[in-house]
Amino acid sequence: MTTDTAQPDVREVVAALDGRYPREWAEQWDKVGLVLGDFDTAVGRVLCVVDCVPETVDEALAVGADLIVAHHPLLLKAVSSIAPDTYKGRIVHRLIRAGVALYVAHTNADIANPGVSDALAARLDLAGLRALVPASGPGEGDGRGIGRVGELAVPMPLAELAGFAAGRLPATAAGVRAAGDPERMIRTLAVCGGAGDSFLAEATKAGADAYLCADLRHHPASEHLAAGGPALLDVAHWASERPWLDEVAEWLRGSFPVEALVSDLDTDPWTVHATSPSQKETIQ
Ligand SMILES: [Zn+2]
Repeated sequence: MTTDTAQPDVREVVAALDGRYPREWAEQWDKVGLVLGDFDTAVGRVLCVVDCVPETVDEALAVGADLIVAHHPLLLKAVSSIAPDTYKGRIVHRLIRAGVALYVAHTNADIANPGVSDALAARLDLAGLRALVPASGPGEGDGRGIGRVGELAVPMPLAELAGFAAGRLPATAAGVRAAGDPERMIRTLAVCGGAGDSFLAEATKAGADAYLCADLRHHPASEHLAAGGPALLDVAHWASERPWLDEVAEWLRGSFPVEALVSDLDTDPWTVHATSPSQKETIQ
């Protein structure tokens, strides 16, 4: 916390974030906006994170952040207690006690333009971006929507693209796995930050050669491929959304005299990835 009057307070930063990511753009089920924090607290330092978990709260406190901007909601489902002996209650207590505000931009940041999937697409040098699923309702227009479809700067076979994506995205234990013919040539790529199961049909309709997202499951992926859909690349959920943190931090720096930091703490739950010895030769 600081008393420098040139610095914005939580109220001003939240208003600007709400302006860039209007809350009405979020899905009906989503919970976005200010989660906790004193509106009058001066903001000198912001920490951008994908997940507000004990480890990123430790980081926020260690760097002296006044505000955390998180992608995933801390409290998505209704709770009847935030007692400090509960997992989330302890986080709430720690943040309030330390005077750190918490703000969430989730599905409203997903559909924004630029939004979460633009940052992911930029990491992969995709050009000519369009929305994979154009937004309807309050967020409709101006290229907004879920996911992005674009052209790779250099077309490459699926297996090579998996290696390229692994090199461009933040490193995780899970890495990148691909489904489909490893030799299939990929020019048009659809991407979606976060879980992308629901948009497999849209990736097909968009004419993509491949679709990259997180959290793909056996049955939807198998059936999609059997129906002749685009090849698939499954990446770590955290890695698919982490690129957006750089973009939002840069925007915060340009909007206010604040120090905006980005957490590189991998909050993906997967910590080990082992490959069967007989499969090693197929790893790119
Ligand atoms: Zn996510």
